[in-house]
Amino acid sequence: MIPSILPTYNRAPLSFVKGEGSWLIEADGSRYLDLGAGIAVNALGHANPDLVAALTEQAGKLWHVSNLYQIPEQQRLADLLVENTFADTAFFTNSGTEAAELAIKMARKYWYEKGAPREEILAFEGAFHGRSTGAIAAAGSEKMVKGYGPLMPGFRQLPWGDMDALKAAISDKTCAVMVEPIQGEGGIRPMADADLKFLRALCDQTGALLIFDEVQCGVARTGRLFAHEWAGVTPDIMMVAKGIGGGFPLGAVLATENAASGMIAGTHGSTYGGNPLACAVGAKVMEIVTDPAFLAEVNRKAGLLRQKLEGLVSAHPDIFEGVRGQGLMLGLKCKAAPADIVKAGYAQHILTVPAADNALRLLPPLTITDEEIAEAVSRLDAAATALETAPSSV
Ligand SMILES: *Cc1c(COP(=O)(O)O)cnc(C)c1O
Repeated sequence: MIPSILPTYNRAPLSFVKGEGSWLIEADGSRYLDLGAGIAVNALGHANPDLVAALTEQAGKLWHVSNLYQIPEQQRLADLLVENTFADTAFFTNSGTEAAELAIKMARKYWYEKGAPREEILAFEGAFHGRSTGAIAAAGSEKMVKGYGPLMPGFRQLPWGDMDALKAAISDKTCAVMVEPIQGEGGIRPMADADLKFLRALCDQTGALLIFDEVQCGVARTGRLFAHEWAGVTPDIMMVAKGIGGGFPLGAVLATENAASGMIAGTHGSTYGGNPLACAVGAKVMEIVTDPAFLAEVNRKAGLLRQKLEGLVSAHPDIFEGVRGQGLMLGLKCKAAPADIVKAGYAQHILTVPAADNALRLLPPLTITDEEIAEAVSRLDAAATALETAPSSV
């Protein structure tokens, strides 16, 4: 019989009833150190007091009015995003997938309104942009698209990191290029700064709009407010979600005035998008993560974690191959199956997230402490040792 929850997930037999900072707690009181943070969502930890206060204060005033009216909290969040990024304007969604949908629509509409429609959007193998029919067509992986055809046309996937292929594919007919500056689901695979610069230059030459998907790598995750800042290039359109709501469902599309020029009244909408509850929390997240002292701490702690992980890799050469990523978006390239390491981690009460390309993702709350970093690496060490000594029992 089909379970009452549609069985699209293989869930771990863990059930949490409470969260505190970097920890998740089961009903019997067992505590797990959370290096997944709800897949890079709980950027400020679980039950962060500032976010709890922002949410409960708003909850006592007003939950929802729809976008038929002015929403002061939404205005405040939009202003914070515009002040702190390349963007001139923002639209709010409830998820990364919806941000992908708007990014695609905005790019196509831009060219339509110019009177010179362009359809093709270039994307990359290993990408993840969400689960809508448009987003799966953009990423194009067999696993995501199988059985869901006909797919939305107009997407082509290029080999990751192959700048020659990109140069050959892009032309003055290209509508846009969509890319994660650091692939998340794809296995914490950063695009080199030089390649991001080259990509920007190719877009400038051909007019193609550059769309960055920073749903996973954005919102201070890499130690800059957005990951593309490390490369010194800016997109025309950017998708944001995950960390921006700190656990409250919230996403956004940010854009330059030029890229957004086709999106006039009536061309797009959302009932819930940017509602007062979500935006009150999002504005508080932005206030916290844009503080230079906060970002400096993320970078310092990232250095500490990375150094300890390099030691872990050296200590377990049969399990791990290397560390990659930026800031607190780190991946352990594995020799063992990442799913087995995740499972061995459960026994040590540490939570990690598997990814493609044989990688294990470490996406801790950005508020993780030095002590918790040391504890996390020692638990990962114990998990690796357990795998080495009794691989069949895991
Ligand atoms: C998670 C993710 C999405 C989809 O976001 P949802 O909120 O799950 O719809 C899109 N792009 C990237 C890079 C992601 O990591």
